[in-house]
Amino acid sequence: MPRYSDETIEEVRQANDIVDVISQYVHLKRSGRNFFGLCPFHNEKSPSFSVSPDKQIFHCFGCGVGGNVFTFLSRIEGINFVEAVQTLAERANIQLPTFENNVDKAKEELKAKVYKVNEYAAQYYHENLYKPSAKIAQEYVKQRKLTNDTLKSFRIGFSGKFNELYQSLKKEGFEDPEILESGLVNRNDNGTYIDRYRNRLMFPICDARGRVIAFGGRVLDDSKPKYINSPENIVFSKGRNLFGLNVAKKSDEIKKRLLIVEGYMDVISLHQRGIKNVVAPLRDSTNTTTRLVT
Ligand SMILES: [Zn+2]
Repeated sequence: MPRYSDETIEEVRQANDIVDVISQYVHLKRSGRNFFGLCPFHNEKSPSFSVSPDKQIFHCFGCGVGGNVFTFLSRIEGINFVEAVQTLAERANIQLPTFENNVDKAKEELKAKVYKVNEYAAQYYHENLYKPSAKIAQEYVKQRKLTNDTLKSFRIGFSGKFNELYQSLKKEGFEDPEILESGLVNRNDNGTYIDRYRNRLMFPICDARGRVIAFGGRVLDDSKPKYINSPENIVFSKGRNLFGLNVAKKSDEIKKRLLIVEGYMDVISLHQRGIKNVVAPLRDSTNTTTRLVT
């Protein structure tokens, strides 16, 4: 059921004069500051039902009912509070926020949390790369002659074993809905949580604004597939992003031209050789047209 803000409810209340609304149901006569009529909620012969235009409330001295314009409409029409707000908003030509706005709000909140999960994971993987347990990844970056500056610019990382990331995210206070939505952790049929990326060299994928939206993970042995990407989710759409754009944007050359190369490692090696206006399409996104969204 939708919920309206106090401000919205107040706006609707002020736009519906209680004397006007009640007059549609009860014949009211002015007496001093108030109006009186026969109570519609109990049987009576002399009017004990009063309406105060000053206070915008009604009260029956016979049966004791009372309240504001919403209370009156709910009781007389047999509808609930939200329906009374909707009816009176319509009467006053006030556009209420739709139920969809509430759904959008929940979606925006989840999105914000997923960005935080991704940001935390990027840092977690990056720090992992410098640990003794990441020997296999350290050997790979050494063999590819990646400098420490490069590792830091692209925040290259290493994913650990089993559910190490999941454990760390939980310890940090993240909850399952945003963790699962990020695609970084999967829950299998028997309810066990397992990290999506294990023993892989990690490349955070950022949008043009520099927010981490996904990851690419490269194997460090001969197993297949060589690369896996985050699944599309609330913050990530493959066709709409390019790897390295957030880094390339910092270079002046990008104003003249943007070079598109095949793979993440191509972007990184060229960048290290001083060619900084370079990006790559996201892997396994060949069937979608890449559209730049800055
Ligand atoms: Zn009454």
